[in-house]
Amino acid sequence: MASNELTRVVVAMMEHETNTFSPVPTPLERFGRGGLGVPEGADVYQQFKGTGTGIGGLLDAADAAGWDIVTPIAGNAAPSGRVHADAYNYMSDRICEAVEAGCDAVMLDLHGAMVAETTTDGEGTLLTRLRSIAPNMPIAISLDLHANMTNAIVDNCTVLVGYKTYPHLDMYEAGEHAGRLLVRTLAGEINPIMVWGSRPILAQTLRMGHEDEPMGPLLEMARMQESRGLLASSVFGGFPLADIWEAGLSVVTIADADQLAAEEARDEILDAAWAERAEFMFESEPLSETIAQAKAMTDGPIILLDHADNAASGGTQDTVAVLAEAIEQGLEDVAMFAICDPQAVREMAAAGVGSEVMVSLGGKTDMPEIGRVGEPLAVTGRVRALTDGQFPVTVPMGRGTQTDMGATAVLQVGKVKIVVISRNVEPWDPGCFRSVGIEPTNMRYLILKSRIHYRAGFHDISTRDIPCNGVGVTSSDNSLFTFKNVRRPIYPLDPRTTATPEFG
Ligand SMILES: [Zn+2]
Repeated sequence: MASNELTRVVVAMMEHETNTFSPVPTPLERFGRGGLGVPEGADVYQQFKGTGTGIGGLLDAADAAGWDIVTPIAGNAAPSGRVHADAYNYMSDRICEAVEAGCDAVMLDLHGAMVAETTTDGEGTLLTRLRSIAPNMPIAISLDLHANMTNAIVDNCTVLVGYKTYPHLDMYEAGEHAGRLLVRTLAGEINPIMVWGSRPILAQTLRMGHEDEPMGPLLEMARMQESRGLLASSVFGGFPLADIWEAGLSVVTIADADQLAAEEARDEILDAAWAERAEFMFESEPLSETIAQAKAMTDGPIILLDHADNAASGGTQDTVAVLAEAIEQGLEDVAMFAICDPQAVREMAAAGVGSEVMVSLGGKTDMPEIGRVGEPLAVTGRVRALTDGQFPVTVPMGRGTQTDMGATAVLQVGKVKIVVISRNVEPWDPGCFRSVGIEPTNMRYLILKSRIHYRAGFHDISTRDIPCNGVGVTSSDNSLFTFKNVRRPIYPLDPRTTATPEFG
């Protein structure tokens, strides 16, 4: 490249965590915000520059290098079922066309657990295609901690960096890290050697919080390796509900021109993870007992975690088991986020604020993969608020972006306030309550349809959190799911699994 020519980089995002057991459809519209479609071209830069996201970090790395940036598309959908073929093709085509038009490097903000109708490896298939268009193209990617690593991903990029936190507080840092490594590679400063490996562990995401064992110490090992000179070390807990061959725990390490150093670092973490495999499992207790125990506690706000129906893992977000049990046992001063039920919102909007309404709440979606039909909750309550469901993210995770809950209503049933939304949103920013007039710190109980991300905004304003064994396609009970594709044997589906590494 002549020194007077700017380096041109294609920067894009295509993110989706696919729960292959989820009945929630994933069309292209799901990848946009506010009914405006998926951002393309200059809108991408405008919407994501300066944000606390992976693509925000990639853009900053490219800008810091003075590169010429082309931004074909930035799609990011809440987790759900397999990505529709036309949606996957549309986003992939935009990225590939931009690369075909000519560039010197590519930076992508991907998830790592994307399954489309046409491929079990959304990221690997895209990267393979890019490398067939431009065989020697330097490519940097940032990935989610829940990525299921594949050979097609690692073989077809130059550097990759995963988040080291869950909740994902460092999306920006991972993007910036990956981008910076690519800039240094093109400048001839480093020669990245990347290796990966896995152990057959199908870990529960409820056991992957970075503040908890066993994930926290593994992430700390990765940080130590980087502080000792490794270019990057990434631990991926995996996403067990994407039922593909490679689902499970993996590690990717990058050393500067040193294969052995990369391999030793990788194996150090994989061996530690294998030794702790039993700690990656989660045991539930009966819902009625959990709620009865919570009722005896007085030190609110207490978080009741409805983790089996987490929208950000592919839940329908309309199961009512935990809510119904809380009402049944007479819990008071409760706020819940949220039931996703556009029809109920429309009925409440038609009635108007202040009206008393009878609503068949939630339960609109059947869940054939776990053998359940939707079971609505018949309630009578008062409409307390109606909003357009928009609020700006205020916590570091996703800072600078906008949340779109769709048309939103608050239904008060006795002493329980239920936020009813029209678009799947996991509660991790207290704005989900405050934007509809509920102050979460004034409540005794907060029922949240979340797993770990709620900690990003609710950890500091709550006294404790209690996992509740509700109903949904994000349950931590493996016996509810029929795994057909994941490699066997794998722990804990096959308790006697040995540690034989199969990839990398
Ligand atoms: Zn994740």
